Amino acid sequence: MVTDWIKVRLPVGVHVDRMRSILRKRKLVTVCEEAHCPNIAECWETTATFMLMGPVCTRGCKFCAVTSGKPGLLDKDEPEKLAEAIAEMDLDYAVLTSVNRDDIPDGGATHFAACIIAIREARPDTLVEVLIPDYLGAPLQSIIVARPVVIAHNLETVERLQSVVRDRRAGYARSLTVLRQVKEKNPAIYTKSSLMVGLGETEEEVTDALHALRQAGVDIVTIGQYLRPSQWHLPVQKYYHPVEFKQIEETAKELGFVFSACGPLVRSSYRAGELFIKNIVKGGMYEENSSHV
Ligand code: SF4
Repeated sequence: MVTDWIKVRLPVGVHVDRMRSILRKRKLVTVCEEAHCPNIAECWETTATFMLMGPVCTRGCKFCAVTSGKPGLLDKDEPEKLAEAIAEMDLDYAVLTSVNRDDIPDGGATHFAACIIAIREARPDTLVEVLIPDYLGAPLQSIIVARPVVIAHNLETVERLQSVVRDRRAGYARSLTVLRQVKEKNPAIYTKSSLMVGLGETEEEVTDALHALRQAGVDIVTIGQYLRPSQWHLPVQKYYHPVEFKQIEETAKELGFVFSACGPLVRSSYRAGELFIKNIVKGGMYEENSSHV
């Protein structure tokens, strides 16, 4: 078959069951489950991507499996519950993301920062990577001050397809500004972004998007195949062959990203990227530096 290279392990096993039970006990949500991530069985051996502020997003991107609608009230105890769950799971790397909460004045940035701080206090050795929304252009200061090791924000697709693929409130320029702001405020924090391919973009447009990310100072990029979550979502226009992903990865390397991962099942939170960051930190190449904030 033409897509024989897209094969995933089923999310079953004692370890996956244990992770689920720790999450359910505290009513915590992971994007791994909500977004039907194909790598869940592999990733949950070492990490999990927690989705903060509930399972319902105020936006409705046309590629995303997360439920769109009116979210519930914020769980004020979420930072502590999260820190407890990470301790019980014994995670040395945790990825936090959130739905968009355009219904909250600061988009939930203060709550997000409180979650990072709670983890740092409970488990100082756990590295925290965050994948943040655009907060409609509001200042990101609270998140930057909380000093996660990586701040990611996804460009998702090439410039021409932004309004087709993403919610109308998101945008190419706004996302690049988010990434640029983080680097300007604290260059010691690694910045990361992710693109999906297979939505109808051209090779040149992908290269242009990679250029724009580098110009915004982005260190790490991940690029993966778009997979349609249901018939209500955008159809796949093309399945890229692993050889084509290799070519995109070569382009990313030439542009100077410190790390790039490109492949059919590569997602924003990707195990290889986390290993890379862990190695940098262990090797002493990461300096905690908040003096630019
Ligand atoms: S902003 Fe878009 S991609 Fe992010 S959770 Fe909401 S609907 Fe999904």
